[in-house]
Amino acid sequence: MQGMMMHRDLRIIDILRHAAEVHADQGIVSARVEGDLHRQSYPQTLARCARLAHALKGLGVEPGDRVATLAWNGHRHFELYYAVAGIGAVCHTINPRLAREQLLYIIDHAGDRLIFLDLTFVSLVEDLLPDLPADLRLVILSDRAHMPETALDALCYEDLLAGQPTEYDWPDLPEDTACGLCYTSGTTGHPKGALYSHRSTVLHALQVPVCQTSSFRAGRRILPVVPMFHVNAWGLPYTAPLTGTTLVMPGPALDGPSLFRLMEGEGVFSAWGVPTVWAGLLEEIGAQGRVPDGFGDLVVGGSAAPRVMIEAYEARGVNVAQAWGMTEMSPIGTHGVLPPRFDDAPAEERIAAKCCAGRRIFGVEFRIVDDDGTPQPHDGTAVGELYVRGNTVISGYFRNDDATRAAIDAEGWFGTGDVASVDAEGRLVIRDRAKDLVKSGGEWISSIDLENAALSHPAIAACAVVAMPHPKWDERPVLVAVPSGEARPALEEVHDHMAPHFAHWQLPDDLVWVEDLPLTATGKISKLTLRQRMDDYVLP
Ligand code: ADP
Repeated sequence: MQGMMMHRDLRIIDILRHAAEVHADQGIVSARVEGDLHRQSYPQTLARCARLAHALKGLGVEPGDRVATLAWNGHRHFELYYAVAGIGAVCHTINPRLAREQLLYIIDHAGDRLIFLDLTFVSLVEDLLPDLPADLRLVILSDRAHMPETALDALCYEDLLAGQPTEYDWPDLPEDTACGLCYTSGTTGHPKGALYSHRSTVLHALQVPVCQTSSFRAGRRILPVVPMFHVNAWGLPYTAPLTGTTLVMPGPALDGPSLFRLMEGEGVFSAWGVPTVWAGLLEEIGAQGRVPDGFGDLVVGGSAAPRVMIEAYEARGVNVAQAWGMTEMSPIGTHGVLPPRFDDAPAEERIAAKCCAGRRIFGVEFRIVDDDGTPQPHDGTAVGELYVRGNTVISGYFRNDDATRAAIDAEGWFGTGDVASVDAEGRLVIRDRAKDLVKSGGEWISSIDLENAALSHPAIAACAVVAMPHPKWDERPVLVAVPSGEARPALEEVHDHMAPHFAHWQLPDDLVWVEDLPLTATGKISKLTLRQRMDDYVLP
């Protein structure tokens, strides 16, 4: 028997319409590229989104068109999220840290019609310009007074908005309509696109705060340091307005002293980002001998939070929660709020409980399978590859059937490439990574792509790239190579050879020459054995 309830499609714009009505005194504070601190309420933001929607229509943007952004966290980027999705188009957030080749690939693969860029990225786009499609329109996210001298034929964002109506008749859209596109680096080859829908985005915004309860409350202030070009800043541009939380957007300055100043000045309660950023803030906290006034909640994800980091923040009264997720999962899959039985537990026990990757959130199912594909018990001991399923998980990659086939199994589960155990309470412990990638400061580097580039150097007969622990960046790539003759060129020479295909930060930190590489039974290089061999190795 069917239920007899109305069906209203879930729409992203309704999150902001709700915030504008119910949380009208909350909004967005932005440390802008121009250097000022800008404030606007959610009602003002909704009005600006209406203006932007009219402007997008005026530029000929149609439902389904991809509109790209190259921008830091700020109110204009937020406006693009809502207005582009609101008219049924797709907001493609480009990660500016990608290498030139990858940037050109994803702009082409996405079929972007427009790019909205921050002043910071003008020279980046100037560099790409000769290889960009001739009909790609560019808009600089600034006002007339700050428009730069540039070779780009670019429009000015504030000019576009000026004079447009402050109301928009937002169309009803089927909830499966695409709204956002974010590319993630694969183990090899080109980045792959996760194409979010209105439904998946709204459900994610509802699922996260009912689990990660420590971070959200109307009137509080939240700081997404995780960029809006990295999985929608973990969904905070949606969860914050939904819960009446004010967003404090850090713009481009993500170093410890800048974050400390902004957090203290704006009374930030909760801050979200990767461990690298929190190591920087911790240094500043050490220098000042205190945490920013009002700071009480820290969400760490993207890489494992080191125990010493959790201890250091907790010792200063900041509640640390570790989360795990993936671009393909919108991204949050776990939350770090401890069960109530830990409320009065000794600090030591609480910290130990926080050293895992968190517990499963509502709406995401976990499955651990061994090498034969047999599901393993969720007993906290059995280890296998983690598969996930849920309304906020991709069903495939955008225009990439090969990658889709490789990622989704016959029963529709998505393989994460993480090797993990899960216990009876849904607690996830990441034990290893099946995917051959290095994660540096929250960004991926493909080991295989580095190996292929290094192998084309005539002095290298065989090689492997391994991730080595690094105190600031979590992991850095090290190239281990077998020479083909007498020559053992220095790291710099090999860098020069590889540089055209990578962003500079992706190149290996060190080159270690060896006589041979350990092999597995099937003749592949055994990275496990290699890492064990390098147990005593210390990065230069
Ligand atoms: P994000 O960086 O937002 O988590 P990505 O898709 O770039 O999203 O990376 C996802 C991967 O990052 C996971 O599959 C896992 O390997 C790693 N990861 C994310 N969070 C954690 C965590 N808390 N502990 C260990 N690894 C993590």
